[in-house]
Amino acid sequence: MVFFPLKIKPFLISIFLILHFPLSVFGAAITDIRFWSAPDHTRVVLDLTEPVQYESSSQENPPQCRVELTGITSLPKKKELKFKDKYLQKISLTDLGKGKARLVLHQKTPLQANIFTLKPDLGKPHRLVIDLIDVGQEKKDQEERQKQKEVRSKGTKIVVIDPGHGGEDPGAVGPRKTLEKDIVLKVGEKAIHLLNQQREVKAFLTRKGDYFIPLEQRVRIAREYNADLFISLHADGSFNPQARGSSVYCLSLSGASDQAAKLLADKENMSNILGGAFLRPASLSKDPNLNQILLDLMQNNSMKESFRFAELTLDEMKEIHPLKYSSYRQANFIVLRAPDIPSVLVEVAYITNKEDERILNQSEFQEKIAKSLVNAILKYFN
Ligand SMILES: [Zn+2]
Repeated sequence: MVFFPLKIKPFLISIFLILHFPLSVFGAAITDIRFWSAPDHTRVVLDLTEPVQYESSSQENPPQCRVELTGITSLPKKKELKFKDKYLQKISLTDLGKGKARLVLHQKTPLQANIFTLKPDLGKPHRLVIDLIDVGQEKKDQEERQKQKEVRSKGTKIVVIDPGHGGEDPGAVGPRKTLEKDIVLKVGEKAIHLLNQQREVKAFLTRKGDYFIPLEQRVRIAREYNADLFISLHADGSFNPQARGSSVYCLSLSGASDQAAKLLADKENMSNILGGAFLRPASLSKDPNLNQILLDLMQNNSMKESFRFAELTLDEMKEIHPLKYSSYRQANFIVLRAPDIPSVLVEVAYITNKEDERILNQSEFQEKIAKSLVNAILKYFN
């Protein structure tokens, strides 16, 4: 299926834009092309100095996605990119003259293209995002997750660990350019490895590499696994370089426990915008089979369990790193909204603090955090 952008704007707004922002009529320069490989899709991102108009088409033989861009002033030096990727062979850019350019994504197999734009945010420019999705693989992965509960022996607990951010969304950035998305993936991998040595626990990651998953989809993955516990891993960031310490958060349905927790939830919820979430209709619709009263009961119970797990986690974490708060805080984090799964968000330390950044990069410290999480998980299930 091919998606076209919504280009029709009210006539008056168009006039206003032309009169007041004459620069944009000169067009956009394409300054960079990046790509991210995920297990079920590949994302290609074009960096642009201005927003562009585009039209796309797909063909099956040979499989490729073409995007014709209008209002282009210059292209990057490299017009053809070849790389190792499960789905893409190469990308080529051709100057068609008169401000037009053609981008061709040469695929290894037919894929579904979802194309959308992202506005400048946190130092990132205008972007055109092309997601090439292997719908078959996506479905296979989903089925694989759904049968995990059945294939495990009775009583096995399933834990889903969610390394925050990824791909276009780096998360918080340290003074020496350490990225939150990289650190939390390493900690998550270590925790999974330790947990899977336990007979009574089976653990999975929501994200296994450097690519972005929308927040709602992380929740959906945990629900597909039928998880007994969900932990979203993060590293904190602040304009104050002195800020340090670990903290643990739970969901609140009735406002945040304090202003700082609200600001943190707002920041973490921004991930969808920064990472570029293309939410497909299925993820937005409510499940008609779920009864609201039952849902509230489940949510209440999950939240109580989340509080219990949060306290156990704080108890373990204070042994390895100073705590920012001695008790858990609450706010409306999108990623903690599974009604039937106890869910917590852990900020392991402050990546924006020089000393915290240094230890976050150490494999021993990552291992220590992973161990403290595993201890808390085992205590929780016992
Ligand atoms: Zn984060």
